[in-house]
Amino acid sequence: MSETVAAVVMTGPGSPLERRRFAAPRARPGGAILEMVATEVCGTDVHLHHGRLSGVPYPIIPGHVNCGRVLETGGPLTDVEGRAITPGALVTFFDVFGTCGNCWHCLVAKAATRCPHRRVYGITTSAEDGLLGGWAERIEVLPGVRVLPLPDAIGAEAFMGGGCGLPTGFHAVERAGIALGDTVVVQGSGPVGLNAAIFAQLAGALSVFVVGAPSARLDAARKLGADEVLDITSATTREERVRWVRDRTSGRGADVVIEASGNPAAVPEGLEMLRDAGRYVVVGQYTDAGDATLNPHRHINRRHATILGCWGYEFTHLHRALQLMARHNARFRWRDLITREYKLSEASQALADMERLAVVKAVIRP
Ligand SMILES: [Zn+2]
Ligand SMILES: [Zn+2]
Repeated sequence: MSETVAAVVMTGPGSPLERRRFAAPRARPGGAILEMVATEVCGTDVHLHHGRLSGVPYPIIPGHVNCGRVLETGGPLTDVEGRAITPGALVTFFDVFGTCGNCWHCLVAKAATRCPHRRVYGITTSAEDGLLGGWAERIEVLPGVRVLPLPDAIGAEAFMGGGCGLPTGFHAVERAGIALGDTVVVQGSGPVGLNAAIFAQLAGALSVFVVGAPSARLDAARKLGADEVLDITSATTREERVRWVRDRTSGRGADVVIEASGNPAAVPEGLEMLRDAGRYVVVGQYTDAGDATLNPHRHINRRHATILGCWGYEFTHLHRALQLMARHNARFRWRDLITREYKLSEASQALADMERLAVVKAVIRP
């Protein structure tokens, strides 16, 4: 083992990324060390670099959804099925840890993603606490963090093509309660929207429409089975876009609309795309991008709408999404969502490309 390990550190909002060296970590009892194979650069990392998330303990090593090879374990380690995880295995891990199972949110509300003790690799972990982000040559899996071996049918490329959008899109679709034969509109064609479009099909939707931009992302939506896509750079008014949806739904609006755009104005617009008594899920407003104006009478009360928020994901979503990916990888070809692979030394470039939406999915291979 080399004595030090390289990592890319985000020192603070707006500051250039720095390459630093860390002491090579050893596995703690119940933990593991992974040799990084691939990590992602996603919209969250762009938000982190702009300081748009609260409670981030800069300096941090970004990279929350990761794929690596087990270098060593601190004693026996098993997956959720009880199978042994041994050195050499290609794995990912649930990036959320510290969820206490013991507080009001965990025990009474059963809302584990709102547990105040919850922490996330690459987001709420400081570089001062070690290699707890994926933009590095190695990563430490802390004791208690759940490791998931990648099923044989999927490699690192497919898994990272899904990235954090995979369990997030899965969770949003689960929240939406799609019924067989429903028509679904997805607002937003980023990784979360694309994965929501995939899982909506698996959930039994009759038609899936994606409203978004730029064209490369809409092409990806078409390839993975969206019936039709609408480019918001050509349909530039809310009225046009709502009419487009109504024209395809007998004038009534969609049964389910999933917001995965991050633009607050998408919410009142999406409610206008929704049929009476439809279900609306908001998953794209991960940072506070401002307010939107609703008409409570038209948008909610008279529409008899069900509106649901969707925050983060739990282990169950990652586990089940991974099994579905293994089963349906040939159909949806998640690896094709990766536009470009970068070296660790190209992290700044990857971040810039993600910011200007030049890539669907950017992956770093340390
Ligand atoms: Zn808790
Ligand atoms: Zn992410």
